[in-house]
Amino acid sequence: MNDYNTLIKGKMVYGENKIIIKSPFNNIEIGSVPALTKKDIDSVYDYAKKAFYSWKELSPQERIEYINKFKKEFISNRDLIARIMALEIAKPIKACYSEFDRTIEYIDQTIECYKKEFINPDIVKENIHGIKGKEGYFFREPLGVVLAISPFNYPLNLSLAKIIPALLVGNTVVFKPATQGSIVGTLIGKCFFKTKLPHSVLNVVTGKGSEIGDYIIENNNVNMISFTGGVDVGKKIASKKSMIPLVLELGGKDAGIVLEDVDIKEVAKEILKGALDYSGQRCTAIKLVYVHEKIADKLINQLKELIKGLKIGSPFDDVDITPLISQSSLKWAKSLIDDAVKKGAKVVCGNISDENILFPTLIDKVKHSMLIFDEEQFAPIIPIVRYKEIDWVIKYFNNSKFGLQGSIFSNDEDKAWEIAKKLNSGTININKSSSRGPDIFPFSGIKDSGFGVQGIKWALESMTRIKGIVKNKI
Ligand code: NAP
Repeated sequence: MNDYNTLIKGKMVYGENKIIIKSPFNNIEIGSVPALTKKDIDSVYDYAKKAFYSWKELSPQERIEYINKFKKEFISNRDLIARIMALEIAKPIKACYSEFDRTIEYIDQTIECYKKEFINPDIVKENIHGIKGKEGYFFREPLGVVLAISPFNYPLNLSLAKIIPALLVGNTVVFKPATQGSIVGTLIGKCFFKTKLPHSVLNVVTGKGSEIGDYIIENNNVNMISFTGGVDVGKKIASKKSMIPLVLELGGKDAGIVLEDVDIKEVAKEILKGALDYSGQRCTAIKLVYVHEKIADKLINQLKELIKGLKIGSPFDDVDITPLISQSSLKWAKSLIDDAVKKGAKVVCGNISDENILFPTLIDKVKHSMLIFDEEQFAPIIPIVRYKEIDWVIKYFNNSKFGLQGSIFSNDEDKAWEIAKKLNSGTININKSSSRGPDIFPFSGIKDSGFGVQGIKWALESMTRIKGIVKNKI
């Protein structure tokens, strides 16, 4: 078992106490990370604030060079990081590599966008928009110290999608990784350390959210928070912090709506992928399926057949379903199944567990009185709701407390478009399951799914403010 150290105040430190990280796959101890104290956190913020004044004064090119040096170091650790990720969060190894590669693309695209759209000011000249005697220069300025908090399920992508834009535009960063995912967080810090990033520009604060979370949020030196995680913590952050920009990417209950005119085989494949990738532990996983009653039996049979062919087991093998992140996640998922069954739903297959694994579970006859109709399962469960009228679906879709994404499957594109316009959510996908990417698209949720916009350009925007200088003719 390795003790991992973390980057704070320009050094890799071990700290007085440590947190043991176990793999959700076999419960074996895989390493420890420092459990930083409130005293450590106070000084991290003091240093991050001091570092801001010099980091923001570097030229954009100098900051880009640091990011590129980091990228090189990061790539040279691709195998190590992907393997640790597979162990730490039980994500299939293939998906760990894809997340790694997508993150590299994200870094490149962010640099390109920064160069093109953020370095030069927007200029509003005389004679444009009827302005007389004035010329406005509008610059993008950094905010100060950005607090970046990431969830367990995408420890690379959702961490670096905050850290990279924040640093590029000239902010310094205090980064709190999810505890299950914090070894990966310390490795990100180590790659920055090796590139000799200036003192305190990035700090990786490891520690349990339940112990230090409130303390990190409340510090007066925080100038912006970019948080991705569950609704409860998101709401806590919103209640504790005012007068600074917040971006909250929270939970989702993305529904897939299947009209009666579809190619059932193709749609079943797409729903299976959308619902079960990474065992359903994705904010944009399909978490409810509305299917027209005329084709419901056929779709359910097709899904059942596909589920039979799924491979279940170790994240290091070529499998489809791996263990859930924790026993408490498994308990939660099972409680939703039990509630549905008690209220009349029918388990078509699955509902078997083995240690942290939940076998893919298909549930038919789900009704709106059941918890699983509106709660986020974050597990490999596909709840099926049979419908007669599309207006009924639209009403219930829009009544959901979440509003991240949704999808419509139909061979009639015009009809799908009309329905999409009536659905109240961040994004609606036609004939594809919901997903966060491609990263150049804006990504946002409404209601309990959060507020603020992510995606390359919008992440950069969210971490800057506009500063104007106006020349007046005398
Ligand atoms: P979580 O339990 O809310 O944790 C998220 C992060 O918050 C972790 O780093 C956690 O640290 C930290 N935290 C916990 N308590 C805190 C507190 N009081 N103050 C400050 N930080 C605190 O979420 P999760 O289980 O990691 O992730 C799953 C959730 O994230 C799901 O609801 C999913 O839908 C959502 N998600 C949303 C998106 C999106 O883009 N909308 C993307 C991915 C995931 P510890 O790990 O130490 O507790």
